[in-house]
Amino acid sequence: MTFILLEKWLLESNYTVVFTGAGMSTESGLPDFRSSAGMWKKKDPARLASTEALNNNVHEFIDFYRNRVLGVKEYQPHKGHIILAEWEKQGVIQSIITQNVDGFHQLAGSKKVAELHGTLQKLHCQTCGNTTNSEEYINEEYYCVCGGLLRPSIVLFGESLPEKAFQIALEEAQKSELFIVLGSSLTVTPANQFPLIAKEQGSKLVIINQDPTDFDIYADQVIRDKKIGEILQELTKIT
Ligand code: ZN
Repeated sequence: MTFILLEKWLLESNYTVVFTGAGMSTESGLPDFRSSAGMWKKKDPARLASTEALNNNVHEFIDFYRNRVLGVKEYQPHKGHIILAEWEKQGVIQSIITQNVDGFHQLAGSKKVAELHGTLQKLHCQTCGNTTNSEEYINEEYYCVCGGLLRPSIVLFGESLPEKAFQIALEEAQKSELFIVLGSSLTVTPANQFPLIAKEQGSKLVIINQDPTDFDIYADQVIRDKKIGEILQELTKIT
């Protein structure tokens, strides 16, 4: 497998945006909570990761998220995250749009990151909006000084995407000359609209994902047979 086209476009592009999904996080060892390996006490994660659970089943909700916060603290960014952070410093890429909530891009040193689904690295008070580090959950502190519930700063099923992250992602997709999807099956809306927006604005679209996606037909190049970290490592030879 060669990446000649991707290499050429990466060198030519004046504005490259990277879009990351679960496949990026699983290479760090973090289980995808939607997969069977990520299943928690055999409960349906989609049901627990919801406003319904937050409002009506708070103990189970907290238990589930304490577990996920612990998971994120247990693992760390892999070489792919680190390469992307270096590329941003070097001007090889301009920004990252991510569906992941582990905060690994920032931990690796990336600055311009639109977190479409929020982050597990922070909590905020459901009542007053105060933000804190998610260490509080590890320490079994679940309530704000105001008495409100501290909740993970992520987007739950039943909530809309954070407006600021959405706006940044939209602008970045529109500005991009090259848009690279890394490890997303592009099944979650509206996040999966950004590659199409980029493509419609004339950007080259490259999809790197283990499995085929419904958007492969729009891609200028599809790469499936390698790990993201390995592909990025190979590309550092030319950057
Ligand atoms: Zn509060």
